[in-house]
Amino acid sequence: MFESLEPMPPDAILGLMEAFRADPREHKIDLGVGVYQDERGETPVLACVKQAEERLLAEESSKSYVGPAGAEGYNARVQALLFGDALATRIEERTSVVQTPGGCGALRVAAELVLRCRRDAVVHVPDPTWANHVPLLGDAGLEIRAYPYFDRTTSGLRFDAMAAHLDALGPGDLVLLHGCCHNPCGADLDRAQWQAVLELAQRRGFTPLVDLAYQGFGDGLDEDAFGVRLLAAELPELIVATSCSKNFGLYRERTGAIALISESAPTARTARSQLLNVIRGIYSMPPSHGGAIVDRVLGDEALRGEWLRELGTMRDRIHALRSLLALRFADHGDAGRFSFLGRQRGMFSLLGIGPAQVKALRDEHAIYLVDSSRINVAGASHDNVDRLCGAVMSVLSAAAGRLGTAEG
Ligand code: PLP
Repeated sequence: MFESLEPMPPDAILGLMEAFRADPREHKIDLGVGVYQDERGETPVLACVKQAEERLLAEESSKSYVGPAGAEGYNARVQALLFGDALATRIEERTSVVQTPGGCGALRVAAELVLRCRRDAVVHVPDPTWANHVPLLGDAGLEIRAYPYFDRTTSGLRFDAMAAHLDALGPGDLVLLHGCCHNPCGADLDRAQWQAVLELAQRRGFTPLVDLAYQGFGDGLDEDAFGVRLLAAELPELIVATSCSKNFGLYRERTGAIALISESAPTARTARSQLLNVIRGIYSMPPSHGGAIVDRVLGDEALRGEWLRELGTMRDRIHALRSLLALRFADHGDAGRFSFLGRQRGMFSLLGIGPAQVKALRDEHAIYLVDSSRINVAGASHDNVDRLCGAVMSVLSAAAGRLGTAEG
């Protein structure tokens, strides 16, 4: 049977990680990998997580099954984080939150559930979007279409074009929105634009699917949930996929959740029963460990305080590196070309340089990024930002020189 399979092309990011590991140059910089890194290039377990784990280990009394919805304690904590206490209470009867294996699990079960509602549903995703959105949603059977989002000339948004696209949609269309810290472009909707998206959804009747994978990495836990909360407060229907991979550093524990908001309490109960049935047929139930940690951390005042502090440290480091990058690029004479780095949010930005320059950065300067020129800002450090900016400017001027020679 397997002889009929064609080999898949190698995964670009994994290939890059391998090449980085094998590179003997001591000054190498990894901007490719999509996880938070500290000043030393490490992704340590948060102290609050370590403490919660110690207590869990001592007190856990059973490894019996948890059920398709996961742990209800964890689900309630996520519900409050997503919507804030007041709104969570107001929409409680219409809301269902279910633990999933990471944000990826939430996106996949969302797609499967939508297909149970409508076989012909179409999901509209921003151009560009996180590469994994395509298999997670498309392999389930949803048709995927792109809507205009990022403006590669200004590194801002093409919001008018996006709004025009959304204005032609209707019920049966799903619109994927990055809740904050857009991956890969770092350009987010502002509050007025979220309001405009809300009004379009109200007028046209499409259903937003918000992917909130970086809550707390942008401007703060509440600030980053502005869009989700606005839509949840006003729309009859909403899907949210969220993740504790980044903000709790729980990547490999596969800890996420899907939140469904339905028009009425009876519809919410039906939707939940269908969702649990979808889950039963795919992975049966989520792993429990990560959710148990989050529940512990958020349920204990001291651990929660420690978490907020650690999350703040990660966020502040990303902000500081962004400001420093913009500053150092200016010192290297970029004439404002990379000033957007200081304005954007989250770990990712698109430098907007070509694959030849990406290759030159790797070969000549030991600086690793993916071909799209997406960088993980957290992969830089205060010690190497200056060299990094100098290297980018030098490969750009070498390319401009070659062009000049070719044209001259
Ligand atoms: N959505 C986006 C935009 C992401 O960048 C990620 C992870 O990189 C996820 C969702 C899902 O993350 P996980 O499944 O690891 O929780």
